[in-house]
Amino acid sequence: MAEKIRVVVIGAKGRMGRETVQAILKDEELELVGAVDRTLDGVSVSDVLGVDAGSVQFSNDVEKTLVETKPDVMVDFTTPAVMKGNIDKAIQFGVRPVVGTTGMTPEEIAAWDQACKERGIGGVIAPNFAIGALLMMRFAAEAARFLPHVEIIEMHHDQKLDAPSGTAIKTLELISQAREQMGQGHPNEHESIAGARGGEIEGMRVHSVRLPGYVAHQQVIFGGLGQTLTIRHDSINRESFMPGVVLSCKEVMKYEGMVYGLENLLF
Ligand code: NAD
Repeated sequence: MAEKIRVVVIGAKGRMGRETVQAILKDEELELVGAVDRTLDGVSVSDVLGVDAGSVQFSNDVEKTLVETKPDVMVDFTTPAVMKGNIDKAIQFGVRPVVGTTGMTPEEIAAWDQACKERGIGGVIAPNFAIGALLMMRFAAEAARFLPHVEIIEMHHDQKLDAPSGTAIKTLELISQAREQMGQGHPNEHESIAGARGGEIEGMRVHSVRLPGYVAHQQVIFGGLGQTLTIRHDSINRESFMPGVVLSCKEVMKYEGMVYGLENLLF
C-alpha cells in the first residue's frame, strides 16, 4: 500500500479543527501525525477530543510540531491573526498548507503562491470547503450574466470573527468577473442608520448576520424586472466541509503553487 499522507492540524481543538481530526482519522490515505492548539501541550488528542488518535499528543508550538512530525500537509483552522504566520512557517519547512481560516488579502495569496513554487510544493486556501457552497458560487456567477443586480446576505454563528465571510467575498469577486461593470441601486440613497445598506464590494452590497444557531449560510439575491432569483446554500453542520478538506489534503500533493478556491481542484 502507498505511504499515507502525514497531516498535522492547527487549531485542532476548535470547532473546525476537531471535525478535521476526525475526518483524517477516518480516511485510509491520511495519517494524523500532529495536533496544535494554543492552550494544550503534551496531552493526548484521544483524551481531549474523545477520538482514537493513538499516541498523538497536542502541542502549542506550530514550528516544533512541523520539525518533529515532518508532515506532508498542515491543515489550518485557527484565526485570521495567527493563520498567516502558520502558512509562512509551513512553506518554510516544505509542508503543504491547506487553509480554511479566512481573512487574507489577494497580495498575501500571491506572495504565498510564489513562495510555494520556489519551495516546489502545493497549497490550498479555500474560503469554503463545502461542495454545495461552491455550486452556489458557480450558479451565482452564471445568473449574474443575465440578472446583474445582486446583493448577498450571509448568516453565520455569533463566534465568527471576520465579516463579511470569505465565501461572500469570493462570490462577489466571481460575480464581478461575470457581469458587465455597472452601478446598481439609487445613486441618491442615504442611510438613516449607518451600515443599514451593508458593506460594498464593486458596487454590490453584502449583509452579515451573526446569531447563535447558525453554522454557515448564504443567500445570493438577484433582482430583475418583475422577478427575483435567490440562490441559497446552508451548511447545517461542520461535517459539510470535510469531504473538501480531505480532498484538498490529497490533491495538494500533486502540484506546485497556492490554489485559492476549492473549485479550482473540483471543476
Ligand atoms: P474556533 O474558534 O472554534 O477554533 C479556532 C481554534 O484555533 C481554537 O481552538 C483556538 O484555541 C485555536 N488557536 C487560536 N490561536 C492559535 C494559535 N496561535 N496556535 C494554535 N491554535 C490556535 O473557530 P472555528 O469555528 O473552528 O473556525 C476557524 C476558522 O475557520 C475561522 O476563520 C472560520 O471562519 C474558518 N472556517 C472556514 C471554513 C471553510 O470551509 N473554509 C468553514 C468554517 C469555518
